Amino acid sequence: MNAQQQNLFDIEPPPWEVDDDADEMAAKVVFAEAPWGPFEYSVPDPMRGDILPGKRVKVPLGHRRRLLEAYCIAVAQKAETSKRLKPIAAIIDQQPLISASMLSVAEWMAEHYLCHLGTVLTAILPLGVRGNVGTKLETFFRVSPQAAEKLGQRKLSPMQARAFEHLAASPRPLTVRQLAAAVGCSTGPILALRKKGLLDDETRRVQKAEAEETAAPREENITLNADQQKTLAAIALALDAGKHETILIHGVTGSGKTEVYIQAIQQTISFGRQAIVLVPEISLTPQTRSRFRARFDRVAVLHSHLSDVERHRHWRRIASGEIQVIVGARSAIFAPAPHLGLIVIDEEHESSFKQDIAPRYHVRDVAQRRAQQENIPLVLGSATPSLESWKRAQEGEYQLVTMPNRVSNLPLPHVATIDLRNEFSSGHSRGAISRQLRRAMSQALDEEGQIILLLNRRGFSTHIQCPSCGDVLKCPDCDVAMTHHREKDIAICHYCDHQIPAPQRCPACQSTGIRYGGLGTQRLEAEVRARFPHTPCLRMDSDSMKRHGSHEEALARFRSGEIKILLGTQMIAKGLDFPNVTLVGVINADTALHLPDFRAAERTFQLVTQVAGRSGRSNKGGHVLVQTFDPDHAAIRAAVRHDFERFAAQELPVRREFGYPPFGHMIRIVVRGTSAEATEMVIDAIAKHLQQAADATGVRLRILGPAPAPLAKLRGKHRYHMLLQSTDPQGLRAVVLQATANIEPPDDVQWVVDVDPLQML
Ligand code: ADP
Ligand code: ZN
Ligand code: ZN
Repeated sequence: MNAQQQNLFDIEPPPWEVDDDADEMAAKVVFAEAPWGPFEYSVPDPMRGDILPGKRVKVPLGHRRRLLEAYCIAVAQKAETSKRLKPIAAIIDQQPLISASMLSVAEWMAEHYLCHLGTVLTAILPLGVRGNVGTKLETFFRVSPQAAEKLGQRKLSPMQARAFEHLAASPRPLTVRQLAAAVGCSTGPILALRKKGLLDDETRRVQKAEAEETAAPREENITLNADQQKTLAAIALALDAGKHETILIHGVTGSGKTEVYIQAIQQTISFGRQAIVLVPEISLTPQTRSRFRARFDRVAVLHSHLSDVERHRHWRRIASGEIQVIVGARSAIFAPAPHLGLIVIDEEHESSFKQDIAPRYHVRDVAQRRAQQENIPLVLGSATPSLESWKRAQEGEYQLVTMPNRVSNLPLPHVATIDLRNEFSSGHSRGAISRQLRRAMSQALDEEGQIILLLNRRGFSTHIQCPSCGDVLKCPDCDVAMTHHREKDIAICHYCDHQIPAPQRCPACQSTGIRYGGLGTQRLEAEVRARFPHTPCLRMDSDSMKRHGSHEEALARFRSGEIKILLGTQMIAKGLDFPNVTLVGVINADTALHLPDFRAAERTFQLVTQVAGRSGRSNKGGHVLVQTFDPDHAAIRAAVRHDFERFAAQELPVRREFGYPPFGHMIRIVVRGTSAEATEMVIDAIAKHLQQAADATGVRLRILGPAPAPLAKLRGKHRYHMLLQSTDPQGLRAVVLQATANIEPPDDVQWVVDVDPLQML
C-alpha cells in the first residue's frame, strides 16, 4: 500500500487531467483520545509529496478548529462524492514513525482486543519518540552544485576560501559549529558563504550527546549438542524458506535453549536481517544483557528503567537498521526494525507477556501477527509451554521441537514432596520449614552448596486474625486481608498500598489476643536467620527490591557465593542460572492452587517446575523439596516428575469440558465504581444487552455472572465482572461491541473489556 501511494506522488499528472477537485488527496487520521476517529482531511497541495501513513499530523477539530495531533493511517485519492474536507494543518514527522506492516499489525490489535487504533498506536510509540526527547534540530551545510559557476563571480576572503575548501573536501555535510572548529574561524565566514549562494543547507533531527556503551568481552560459540543442533536446524530451515512459521521449543530447564536462540540469530544477521528476543522483564538481568552483548556487535536491551532519552536513542538506532538484536520485555515487539528476520519469545508461558492496561494485548499473538506480516519465523521456547501453544503444536499449527535433556548430560534434579498435614498433626513444626527441609538445608550448606527457598507471598504474615472473634483485618478499600510487615510494624494492603499501624487489639471485639497468622517472605526470612544464624541469607521480593538496581545487586551477591540462602517470591523462580545451587525448597506449593481462576493448576505446575529447574545446574547435582498440603494434586505430582506432557494430558480434557481456553474463547468484562448500586446497574445493563445481541445475531455464547469480582473492592472501587465464553471468537467480539455500543455509565463508573483474559481476580 505504502509503495503504491508513494508512486502516486512521483508521477506528475498529465495536464489534461488537472482538475481542482478530481485529484484531491485525502488522509485518514485517528486521535490518541476521544473522539477517536477515523476522520478524513484533505491534503493541501504543498504537503502532497510529504504526507505518508505512519506520520503524525496536526489537524483542526470541532467548530473552534482547535489544532490536535493525530496519526495519519491512510492516504488516498479523495472520493468524488465526499463532502468538503477540512485541510491538514501541518505534518509533524519527517519520516513515518510506523511502517506499513506495523500499521497493519496495529489495526489487527484494535480489532482483536476491541480497543481504539489511537490507543494501540500510542502504545507502540515510546513516549520519548513521540516527544522527540534528547534530540534537536540542526542545520547541515554542503557545497552547492551550482557553486562552481558562481565561484568565478564572487570574491572570497582567505577565511571564507579555507572554509569553502574544507567543506568541499568533506565526505559528509557539516554544521556551522563543526566547520568553524575544523577551520579555526568564527561562524561569520561560513554564514557569508551561504549568503553568496555557495552552500546548500538541510535541517535534520539529531541525537544530543551519544552515550557510548561499553563493549562486552567477546565469547566464542558453544558447540551445540545433538538436540540443540536439531532445534537450530528446524529454525534454519524456516529462515531459509523465507515464510512465516511458528516453532515451539519445549525444552526442559537448562536444556540450552538460549544458546540455540543465539545461533539462530547469528544466521539471521548473516542475511542482513534483525532479530527481536522477548524475555520476561524480570529476566532482563545484567547476565542476560552481557550474554547477548558478548555474542553480537550491536545489541539494544530495552528494559523498564531506561529513560525516555535512552529509549528514543535505541529506537532511532533500531529504525536506522544499525542494531542487529533487540532484547526486551513485552513492548520490544514494537521495535521499528526495518529488516526483521526472526522473533524469539523465551518463557512464552509467562503471564507478564499480557499487558493489563489497554491495549490488553498478549505479545505472543501480536508477535505471530507481525511474523506473518513480515514472512518470518517466530520461535517460542519454554520448559512449561502455555496450554494455548501446546494445543496449537499438537494440532500441527506450530512445529514442535523437544529438548528433553539438560546440556552436558546433567540430570534433572530429584524432586520430593513433604506432606505438611503430617508435619502439623505430629506437632513437630511450628514454623514454615519442616524438619526434613531443615535437615536438607544443613546438609547442602555442609557440602558448600547454595539454597533457594520459594514462598510466593510477600510480607511477614499474610493476615492478622483475632482468635476470639475470628475477625481478619481487611483493607477498607479492597476487601482483601491486609498483610503484616514487621520491619515497620504496619499492616499494608497489597492491592492499593493502604497502610495502618499493626493493631494491638482486635478492631472488632477489642480482644488483646490478636494473632499474626499465615506466612510471608519476611517471616520466612526471620525463621531462616534464627535457624541458621551464621549463614548469610537474602530476601528477594518486590518489597526488598524496590530500589532500581537492587535486583541485579542481589543476584550478583548470590552468584559470587557471598550469600548462601536466597529466599523470595516468584522473582527467584525464573530463568536464573546458578551452577552452585544444590537445593531448592518450595515452602508452600499450594499458595496459587485454590485461587478462583481456571488456570490455578497450570500456574502452580509452572511455578513449581520452574523453581525446581534452578537446582542441579552443575555436576554437583541437586534436589528439590516441595512442601504441600495436597501432594496428590495432579499439578504437583506432574511437577515432581518434570512431566509437562502428563500435566497437559490431564488438564486439557478439563478445559475442553468447560469450554475454557484453549478450547473456547473468552472475554472478561469488569465494571468498577465508587457506588456499588450504580456499578451493579451498569453491569446488569451490559448483561442484558449482551443477551439481546446474542439472541439477535444467533451467536452461541455462555455468560458467567455478572458477579462481584474475587477482588470485590479495589482502591476504593466496587468491582463486578462477567465472563463470556464462545467457540466463535468473531461472533463473540461482535456481540460485545454491539452490547456496549450504547452503554452510557455515570461518570464514576468505568468498564473494561479484556479479550483473552489471563487475570481473573
Ligand atoms: P535454557 O535457556 O534452556 O535454560 P541455557 O541456554 O541458558 O539453557 O543453557 C544453560 C547453561 O548451559 C548455560 O550456562 C550455557 O552456557 C550452557 N550450555 C548451553 N549449551 C551448551 C552446550 N552445548 N554444551 C555445554 N554447555 C552449554
Ligand atoms: Zn486496599
Ligand atoms: Zn476480635
